[in-house]
Amino acid sequence: MSRTVIIGGGIIGLCCAYELRRRGEEVVVLERGQPGAGASSGNAGLIVPSFSGPVPGPGVMAALLRSMLRPDSPVYLNPRALPQTAGWLRSFRRHCNVLAYDAGFAAMARLSAQTMTLFDTLAADGVAFEMHADGLLFAYVDEANMAHMVDDLARLQAYGYRRPTILTGSDLRDLEPGLSDRVRAGFFLPQERHVQPETLVAGVLARLRTLGAQVRAGTVVTGIQRRAHVITSVVIPSAAIEGDRFLIAAGAWSGVVARMCGFRLPMQAVKGYSVTVSTPVRRFRRPLYLGDAKLIASPFQQTTRVAGWLEFSGINPAVDAGRLRAMRRAAGAYLRGWESGGGERQRAGLRPMTPDGLPVIGPVPGYDNLFVATGHGVLGITLAPATARAVADLLSGGSPGMDLQPFAPARFLKFQRTRCTIR
Ligand SMILES: Cc1cc2nc3c(=O)[nH]c(=O)nc-3n(C[C@H](O)[C@H](O)[C@H](O)COP(=O)(O)OP(=O)(O)OC[C@H]3O[C@@H](n4cnc5c(N)ncnc54)[C@H](O)[C@@H]3O)c2cc1C
Repeated sequence: MSRTVIIGGGIIGLCCAYELRRRGEEVVVLERGQPGAGASSGNAGLIVPSFSGPVPGPGVMAALLRSMLRPDSPVYLNPRALPQTAGWLRSFRRHCNVLAYDAGFAAMARLSAQTMTLFDTLAADGVAFEMHADGLLFAYVDEANMAHMVDDLARLQAYGYRRPTILTGSDLRDLEPGLSDRVRAGFFLPQERHVQPETLVAGVLARLRTLGAQVRAGTVVTGIQRRAHVITSVVIPSAAIEGDRFLIAAGAWSGVVARMCGFRLPMQAVKGYSVTVSTPVRRFRRPLYLGDAKLIASPFQQTTRVAGWLEFSGINPAVDAGRLRAMRRAAGAYLRGWESGGGERQRAGLRPMTPDGLPVIGPVPGYDNLFVATGHGVLGITLAPATARAVADLLSGGSPGMDLQPFAPARFLKFQRTRCTIR
């Protein structure tokens, strides 16, 4: 039995640990804080293969630059973060074209093709979590903003999606009376699902513990030790943890961990916000995607959560009160009475995003036993089970059963082994 050490206990690290442990591998997860307390909590919980389009796309860079002047816009580039983000943004801009978008879309759609089945398998294997199969209702104030998503759906025919029937505002309000009169058009995708993400994290964690995996909270990895091309251990403040293989799954911090290991991983933290209302007075029938505002309203068993927005402001998890107010105003244009309830919780989470908008999954060139699984951007919940399968296949020496080339770490690598922290 070989031993894998996983750096980062978000949904990606935990699901990878779960798949490896199920195959009889010894697994240790090292998590700086509490498992799942990063981006993997407080998010909208959508399981949406329909959102396979990468974030960089035609026209996106220009929109991002314009947003610097508008801190109340759904996608916001904070000018103060420019010194840290400039290099990453240059690379991002190179991917804002049709060719890169099409290739990225196809790769993401392949990766998420088995997503629903994998979530069912998790549940069947005794992972207890809240999952709903109520579809996803898209709602737009401006019909023109719908075209992009409708075109994307046409590309997903091979995966069982169809060009949707466009509904008018009144049809939509019949489906969801909580929508305001300003909503003019939209459509419904019956096959999409959602989970309550905190229950998913807790469920995977509990199952991992019953399977005998070690998950160590409050354990920050600060360096590595290696012999030539082989990592022998990772360093934590009190000790060194040995392993046969090492997996970086540190979310938005993966670039920092990669630097410790001596290679460059261009990872940007893209902040999102959420407001969660407990015992809500208004209960939505199903999740809603508020298209123009780039927000999601997710109804869970006990709460309603409005979440979304993309903010480029570096590794900075602070809640910006002004942006949160703007987000609430934006949600209020679509939803009636969503804020009334028994109390609320506000959060910010840092999504890990690469300049091409695709995850990074695979072996690190130059090392015999170092792997990466991160960079899932806006789709980490959706893609966690599929990523974990692929990683477990790779690490156990099998074939991942799909083409992982588009996600290879090698695509970013300017390998700089001389910078490695050797202790
Ligand atoms: C507002 C919002 C809404 C979203 N909605 C959706 C959605 O509807 N559907 C969807 O699919 N996705 C959604 N996402 C995206 C999804 O939440 C993320 O892609 C996913 O959670 C990323 O998981 P992760 O495990 O990579 O990162 P994280 O959950 O951030 O986990 C990384 C972990 O690594 C740990 N770590 C970092 N450095 C070290 C170190 N040196 N040593 C030890 N541990 C370390 C961190 O403490 C952290 O816990 C949303 C995100 C946000 C912010």
